[in-house]
Amino acid sequence: MIVKFRDGTKKQDIEFLKQHLLALGFEIHENIGDEYTLFSVLGDTSQFDPDSLYAFKYVDAVVRIREPFKKVSRKSHPTDTVVDVGGVAVGGNKTVIIAGPCAVESEEQIDIIARKVKESGAMIFRAGAYKPRTSPYSFQGLEKDGLRLLKAMKARYHLPVASEIMSAEDLPAFLEVVDLIQVGTRNMQNFALLKELSKVDRPILLKRGLANTIEEWLMSAEYLLAGGNDKVILCERGIRTFETATRATLDISAVPVLKSLTHLPVLIDPSHASGRWEYIESLSKAGIAAGADGLLIEVHHDPENALSDGQQSLKPERFAELVRKCRLIAEAIDRTI
Ligand code: PEP
Ligand code: MN
Repeated sequence: MIVKFRDGTKKQDIEFLKQHLLALGFEIHENIGDEYTLFSVLGDTSQFDPDSLYAFKYVDAVVRIREPFKKVSRKSHPTDTVVDVGGVAVGGNKTVIIAGPCAVESEEQIDIIARKVKESGAMIFRAGAYKPRTSPYSFQGLEKDGLRLLKAMKARYHLPVASEIMSAEDLPAFLEVVDLIQVGTRNMQNFALLKELSKVDRPILLKRGLANTIEEWLMSAEYLLAGGNDKVILCERGIRTFETATRATLDISAVPVLKSLTHLPVLIDPSHASGRWEYIESLSKAGIAAGADGLLIEVHHDPENALSDGQQSLKPERFAELVRKCRLIAEAIDRTI
C-alpha cells in the first residue's frame, strides 16, 4: 500500500501516522520529496481497510497494491481447482453442462425435462425449489415438496442436482438432496448466509451479484473459503447496465479476468443474462470460446406455460442442438464436453 501525504504536511503529522501504522504491525519505507512525502507500507493488509486512512486529514491518496482476497487468489493456488459435484468434475479440461427448468413445478415436468437434458448430454440437473421472485404475488416455488421431487429425480436419472438456497434455515434439507448449492445473484452479498455455507462440506455455486464488481464477487467467494469451504464455483449471470434490449448484460470479459485472478472454476449462465431464449445459443458459444468451464442453461418442455422464466427457457430440441454446437467450439479450443 502506498500513502501520499498532502503538500506541506507537518513533520509531526507524518510521524504520527508512521507510529500509527507501525503499531498496526506494518513496515514503513519513507520517501521524502521536496513537496510531499510517500510511505510504502509493507505487511499483511488483508485485514486492513486502506480507505480508513482518509480519516487523517493530511492523507491525500492511498493506493492498494495487493488484492484484498487471499484464498481465492491464483497467487495462493496457481493450479485450477476442480470441484467434484456428485461425481461430476467441474473445472479442468472438461466443460460441464448444467441444465433444467427455472423452477420445480411438478413430478411430470421434472421427469420429462430431466430425461431430455440427460439424453442431450447435460451432466448436472438444475431447478429451483425456493424461488427469489421480484413480486411477492409470483410463483415462489414448491419449497420442501420441490426438494422431494428433486430427490425422486435423482433416484431415477442419477443426475446430481443444483438448486438455489435462500435461507440458512433450509440448509439441513438441502444437504439431504442438493449436490451443488446455488447462491443466487440477490444473495451474493448475504454474508450471514455465506458464513453458514462456509461451514458445510458441499459445493457452492456462487452467482455474480446484479451490480457487483469482480472484486466484490471474489470477496464473497473468499467468505466461503475463509470459513473452510473451498468447493466453490463462480457463475457469471449478467450484470445491470444501461442496456435494456436484454434482461442483463453478459460480462464475457469476466471469464478471462477471473481466470487470471482466481483458481476457481467459472461458469456462464446465458439464460438469466439475456432473458430471451433466442440469444442463448450465441452467448453459450461465446462463453465456451472465452474459456468458461461450463454453462448453466434453463430448459423447459413447455416454456409457454412455465411458472417462471419461460421466455428464456430452451425447448429440449434447441438445447440438444446447442450442446452439439458447443461441443464443436470446445473441441476447437482443445477442451471437451
Ligand atoms: C436461477 O438460476 O434460477 C436464478 C434465480 O438465477 P439468478 O440468481 O442469477 O437470477
Ligand atoms: Mn430462472
